[in-house]
Amino acid sequence: MAAPKQPTSNSFKKLQGFLRSRMGQAIADYGMISEGDRVMVCVSGGKDSHTLLDILRHLQRSAPIHFDILAVNLDQKQPGFPAHVLPEYFEAIGVPYRIVEQDTYSTVKRVIPEGKTMCGLCSRLRRGVLYRVAAEEGATKIALGHHRDDMIETLFLNMFHGGRLKAMPPKLLTDDRRHIVIRPLAYCPEADIARYARYREFPIIPCTLCGSQANLQRAQIKEMLQTWEKQWPGRTETLFRSLQNVAPSQLADPTLFDFGGLESAQIVPSEDDGIDTDLEAEFNPALALFDGGLPVGAGGRDR
Ligand code: SF4
Repeated sequence: MAAPKQPTSNSFKKLQGFLRSRMGQAIADYGMISEGDRVMVCVSGGKDSHTLLDILRHLQRSAPIHFDILAVNLDQKQPGFPAHVLPEYFEAIGVPYRIVEQDTYSTVKRVIPEGKTMCGLCSRLRRGVLYRVAAEEGATKIALGHHRDDMIETLFLNMFHGGRLKAMPPKLLTDDRRHIVIRPLAYCPEADIARYARYREFPIIPCTLCGSQANLQRAQIKEMLQTWEKQWPGRTETLFRSLQNVAPSQLADPTLFDFGGLESAQIVPSEDDGIDTDLEAEFNPALALFDGGLPVGAGGRDR
């Protein structure tokens, strides 16, 4: 198999430069990679993980620090999985790699009723195997191909179906504190990744070989976001910025902000403090709520 195409058109170079700079920025902003790291890049064969590996390898060559990359693919034994594609590709581009064979497919088929989406359990099992492999390989970081749009979709999924304001972080310490997961594509829009993968003609392996039903809830949210983006270009980017700009005091979670401890500065004016209350009310419409004066105990006159 030949290495991926390197088109020469200006539009490709612009796109490549954009994705490289976005990834570099995300890595810097979240301290994703440090000197001497061994980064295990999980490659499923989809457009996102191919793009992740490709751009991260470029940054590896130009970065001021040294870090190693190990590409890992998990062969889950789905029927029809083209097991030769990724090893041939990794050989062609000259990246160190490991293929892990583990039949999670049979387990998922056995446990999930026919016609139901299998992706939840499939992903959990895959994650477990990948964490084990990371430990075996001495990987200090596990890089996943989730991008900006995945993170926004997850935010809405959690809000709509879980009642939680929670997304998917760019960098995560696993619950057992043994692994750090990074998402270097966190700032990259999915549409640009898809365009990049088409330009490069990566050997894509579809994630539908298992015959799982699509995750309907995620598909609906994706459609909602795409409709918004068409109507109001830039909305997804604005939504993403909101994840980076959180104001706990303007939400309603008492575990994040000490609402109980809030106290106003009690300013008690003297009889002749010179404040013209009518004039004050003119500039502070809220005072009108108190029928021309401040309530007792809030610095206003007694009635
Ligand atoms: S589509 Fe199939 S292989 Fe992909 S995550 Fe879902 S269950 Fe797993």
